[in-house]
Amino acid sequence: MGESPLITPYEVVIVGGGINGCGLLRDLALNGVKALLIEKGDFASQTSESSSKMLHGGIRYLENFDFALVQEALEEKNLWLKLAPHLCSERPFFFPVYKHWKYPPIGLRLGLWLYDFLSHFQNKPHGWFKKAEVLKEFPELNPEGLLASGQYYDGIVDDHKLALECLYDALVEPQVEALSYHEVTKVETVNGLEKISIKDRLTGEQKTVKAKFVVYLTGPFTDKLLPKLGVPWTPKLAPSKGIHLWLKPDTIKAPASMVLTTKDNRVIFVIPQRDAILVGTTETPVKENIFDIFATDEEIDYLIEALKSYFPKAPITRDSIISTFAGVRPLAREEGAAGESLGKVSRFHKIYRPTSTSYVMIGGKYTTFRRMCQELASEIVPRLEKRYEPNKTLNHLRVHSTVGTFQNNEITPEAVKCIVSTEKVRTFEDLFKRRLSKLEGFTEETRIAGLTAKDLDLPLRGPSKA
Ligand SMILES: Cc1cc2nc3c(=O)[nH]c(=O)nc-3n(C[C@H](O)[C@H](O)[C@H](O)COP(=O)(O)OP(=O)(O)OC[C@H]3O[C@@H](n4cnc5c(N)ncnc54)[C@H](O)[C@@H]3O)c2cc1C
Repeated sequence: MGESPLITPYEVVIVGGGINGCGLLRDLALNGVKALLIEKGDFASQTSESSSKMLHGGIRYLENFDFALVQEALEEKNLWLKLAPHLCSERPFFFPVYKHWKYPPIGLRLGLWLYDFLSHFQNKPHGWFKKAEVLKEFPELNPEGLLASGQYYDGIVDDHKLALECLYDALVEPQVEALSYHEVTKVETVNGLEKISIKDRLTGEQKTVKAKFVVYLTGPFTDKLLPKLGVPWTPKLAPSKGIHLWLKPDTIKAPASMVLTTKDNRVIFVIPQRDAILVGTTETPVKENIFDIFATDEEIDYLIEALKSYFPKAPITRDSIISTFAGVRPLAREEGAAGESLGKVSRFHKIYRPTSTSYVMIGGKYTTFRRMCQELASEIVPRLEKRYEPNKTLNHLRVHSTVGTFQNNEITPEAVKCIVSTEKVRTFEDLFKRRLSKLEGFTEETRIAGLTAKDLDLPLRGPSKA
């Protein structure tokens, strides 16, 4: 395929269409910046669809005294509950305390109060339940050594849909564009402008775009990608893999979400949602190809064993699993933190300027993406001789997905066709997994509202991610 002609220069090109790429595009769009987002696969198809799907301050970060991070994240959680109630909801989380727990119950009670305090008491207030009350709520919970349970409130979010809706909101502005299944293959600085070579991975077409600034928001892929593109960069990530299981809804009697501590002093979450139970996560170094990670038998067993220790009588087996998924946290490595467990690595983000016309952001959490992007935009927009207005992202999103997560979504053929034509769908996989929040697998024969991939004239999947 030949090289297509140069498009007019952009002010900013963003590489990476996860939540941070989509979030920054929205912020720049609302501030009148001419910007292009380039994503190698489907939007939000990597880390930003593999999270624990929580908008949270991170109750366990209180242990690390990360109070500023917890406070900021709680503010953002409470903001998104208001801005996108169709994709986010507040849920009670039970935190059972056992005799073997490393802290006395009073430690948890203090932590729960502090959590509410750091939310400026915007969280629904925490509660405390006696053993008998906990067992009434969770009849299958192991009673041996159980003392009581704390209960506090956090948010859950449809992670890939919120990223998509930030993208749709950005695309309302006419000066903004976004390309999926386009891979950035080379970046050079020519006459003070960034020249970015890209390849359409579905058609093979090569393109070149120019921009005043390039921003790399490539999450866990950053350390491998940047040197390959020719960007001056030494590794700065402490990548940390985490897996999740979607379990059948009748696997355990869990009417509410739970936080369970594991034998190795970690916490795992059990969150009933979407007619299933989400269980996760793990925290291990990445051994396989970072673009093609999956849950290993060992990791699945770890979560099943942890769950069984709390629900010894429940029929939890491999057959309870609907599907699994894995992601890599793009944690920013801390100076002098060698040997720290990955769980202790701070969730703060870091912004770098490897050249005078490029930016890189790593670290952080999904929950705080708006604030992280705000920090980046506040540096970039004034350099374009434009006024930066940070509060524009406090407005509601103007476009919603055709099918939301929490509404009762009986999908019709018309709705499917509408999603394909308006929501930047390029493969059947995009439609199936990400637009419709399906948890199972699919084949060529799979029908959505009676329509197959062939009926919709879509390739089944994109090329392999690697
Ligand atoms: C197991 C796990 C659980 C988590 N749970 C939570 C949680 O409950 N709450 C929370 O707040 N946070 C959570 N996080 C953290 C959160 O998911 C991440 O911080 C966030 O999703 C990172 O988003 P991102 O946009 O930086 O990265 P990504 O979503 O990975 O986006 C980077 C994108 O760059 C693209 N890319 C790479 N190379 C190229 C190229 N050459 N050209 C074009 N594009 C390219 C990739 O395809 C990818 O889509 C969790 C993370 C994990 C792994």
